Amino acid sequence: MANYRPIDPSRNPRFAGIRTFMRLPNKTKLENADFAIVGVPFDNAASYRSGARYGPEAIRSASPLVRTYSYQHQINLFDYVSGIDYGDVAVIPGDIHETYRQISTTLAPIYEAGVIPIVMGGDHSITLGELRAASKTYGKLALLQFDSHADVGDIHLGQKYTHGTPFRRAVEEKLIDPAHSIQIGMRGSLDGPEEIDDAKDLGFQVITTDELLSMEQSELIAAIKNRVKDMPVFMTFDIDFIDPAFAPGTGTPEVGGVLSREALQIMRKLTNINFVGFDLVEVLPLYDTGEITASLAANIMFEMIALIALERA
Ligand code: MN
Ligand code: MN
Repeated sequence: MANYRPIDPSRNPRFAGIRTFMRLPNKTKLENADFAIVGVPFDNAASYRSGARYGPEAIRSASPLVRTYSYQHQINLFDYVSGIDYGDVAVIPGDIHETYRQISTTLAPIYEAGVIPIVMGGDHSITLGELRAASKTYGKLALLQFDSHADVGDIHLGQKYTHGTPFRRAVEEKLIDPAHSIQIGMRGSLDGPEEIDDAKDLGFQVITTDELLSMEQSELIAAIKNRVKDMPVFMTFDIDFIDPAFAPGTGTPEVGGVLSREALQIMRKLTNINFVGFDLVEVLPLYDTGEITASLAANIMFEMIALIALERA
């Protein structure tokens, strides 16, 4: 069986070659793959800064320095998983519905094959298209969302489909079960209490950044596991969950978030959860500096791969 893994840096230096995520092979054949990296360079549904369409490119560009061994987990990830960089979804700038169709048709066969997609956004609207694809294979999903915003708005500037509304739509479309879903990291000034209270009314559990910072990490992990139980879980990670001092390259920054090291610690503890899909969204390289945000995103994706590897170890 082929084991698709990053190019050996002892034979070909990290800065060389054509950029794929972690220097994985660029393939669209799913046989022998456990996970597939997929870019969705779409940002027409962002409400503030635009430019997240360049997120996948920036994350790939920052990713060669991500190595294959996790000292925390004591495993080389690629002893247990095989992964490919599937390329980007053919998004349609200016047409969110056609883009949703493209996301769904691209990802559906990946889910059907039992391969776990790790999607790079793009603004957060894209997650609705991913959930549509995932639920075709898995039915209703449990959502684990890291984000400074709940993204459960209804209508924004007359639009139902924006990066601030995907999780209300996902509940309406019965793609996720809010009773097994949890949103973590909400903070910042709001247009009104409903930006968070509507999530609770829809049935989500919400842990704000203030609440998170008053908890032991073990309590947070227990709350997550207790919520998602043994459901198929989709993790959506909006990079603005992390403090903009550590993730400045994003579209809707909210000050006062967790540190990058805290986010990585949380990620490493999310073991023994039935993850079937992941995404990492809202990286906006034009506001980044020194690849801080793109590098952080690539390292969070490494922790996602580690969680997949641990399930197979
Ligand atoms: Mn979001
Ligand atoms: Mn956000």
